[in-house]
Formats: sequence, structure tokens, C-alpha cells
Amino acid sequence: MVRSPNFDQARERMVQRQIEARGVSDQRVLAAMREIPRHVFAVKTNQDRSYDDCPLPIGFGQTISQPYMVAIMTQLLRLTGNERVLELGTGSGYQAAILAKLANWVYTVERIPELSEMARSNAVECGLSNITFIIADGTKGWPDGAPYDAIIVTAGSPGIPGPLFDQLSEGGRLVIPVGDRFSQTLKVVEKIGGVERIRDSLDCRFVDLVGEYGWSEL
Ligand code: SAH
Repeated sequence: MVRSPNFDQARERMVQRQIEARGVSDQRVLAAMREIPRHVFAVKTNQDRSYDDCPLPIGFGQTISQPYMVAIMTQLLRLTGNERVLELGTGSGYQAAILAKLANWVYTVERIPELSEMARSNAVECGLSNITFIIADGTKGWPDGAPYDAIIVTAGSPGIPGPLFDQLSEGGRLVIPVGDRFSQTLKVVEKIGGVERIRDSLDCRFVDLVGEYGWSEL
């Protein structure tokens, strides 16, 4: 794995200034963000911007999310270490890698095969072996691994896909950006006594979740 002192310093600054300073306080999340080398997940041409306070292009019109957004969404899942987690929108695999540090097993679904392959090799480079990479339309969830203690959607959706709620375990949490194609609100959905309880977190902007229960392709 590439370990450069400059990257290490930049990552520490990223955690302090972009994440801790904005109120992310879950120590396990902060430790994972310190540990996972974000530059491994950026495409070569963008590696010097890996620790900047913004999303970065990863090809195919997709992006790796802003570090703060990764941290806050992860914190909202309240992982303690034993969970089975489903992620929709593997992209570079960065979010999946953070989740893999904090949960027992991660299933991550991506619709673009080339991105899934890239993410898999990035995870191997980081020595992670508790992630299952799936190429499919994630809006239908992934029934083979269900039920999940936590589900995270890293693409913007017009609504909460029904299959995701169905595949959530009792007491489980789903974090998903819901809105129009230009702006969304992070929704935190909990399953309590089989019933959904939804609250709004912050506003955000993600690329489209494209699929049967998401947006149709443009
Ligand atoms: N979590 C990623 C960033 C996600 S960008 C990271 O850490 O790098 C959003 C991703 O969602 C894109 O790669 C896009 O191809 C994928 N996506 C969009 N609709 C999808 C669907 N229905 N199923 C699976 N992946 C989807």
C-alpha cells in the first residue's frame, strides 16, 4: 500500500478540520477515517486532491463523496462492530472500506461493473477482506444477504425504495439521500416494531440512484 508522509499529514488535517471541527464525534468513525488511505480510492490524476473538502470524479460520470459526507452518514448508522451492512453505490469503494472497519461484514452493490472491479482492487490494496462486491441494480436491495442491521445509499433517490425497508432488520437503520435530481435531504429511517420512523438530517447533493426503484436513466 502507498504510504506517503504527505498523504498521512493531509489525512490528519482532513479529519481535524473537515470532520471533527464540524461536529462528528463518534470516535470509531474518526479512527476509521484516520486509518483508511483515501488517496488509494481516488483516480491517479486526482490523487493530490484526495484529502480536499469536496467530492472527486472517479469516471463514468460518478464521484467519490466529500469526506465530511462519508463521516456524517457513517456516524448516523451508529455501528458498534457486529453489524451486517448493505451499501448501494460502491463507486470507488471508499465508503465501503470505512464501513468494513466499523462493522462485521459489508455487502456493496454497484451497477457499473468497471467501478465495482476498481473498488474491489482498492479494498484489496487496503488489506480488507470483509466486503462482498455485487454488480446489480441496488434499488432492489440484495436479498441474499438480508436482513441488514444498517443500509446506506450513496446516490440520490426520488423516494425510499420499498425493498430496502423490507431487508432492514428490526431496530435497523437506513440512511438515504431523498429529493430531486439536484438536491436531497439525508433521511434516517429506523424500523421499530416493523414500522418505519423517519427523520431528516442534513441537505446534500448526490449523483442519481438509477434503477427500478430509483431514477430512470437520462
Ligand atoms: N460510495 C461511493 C460513491 C458513490 S457515487 C464511494 O465511496 O466512492 C454513486 C454510485 O452509485 C455510482 O458509482 C453509481 O454508479 C452507483 N449507482 C447508481 N444507481 C445505482 C443502483 N441502482 N445500484 C447500484 N449502484 C448504483
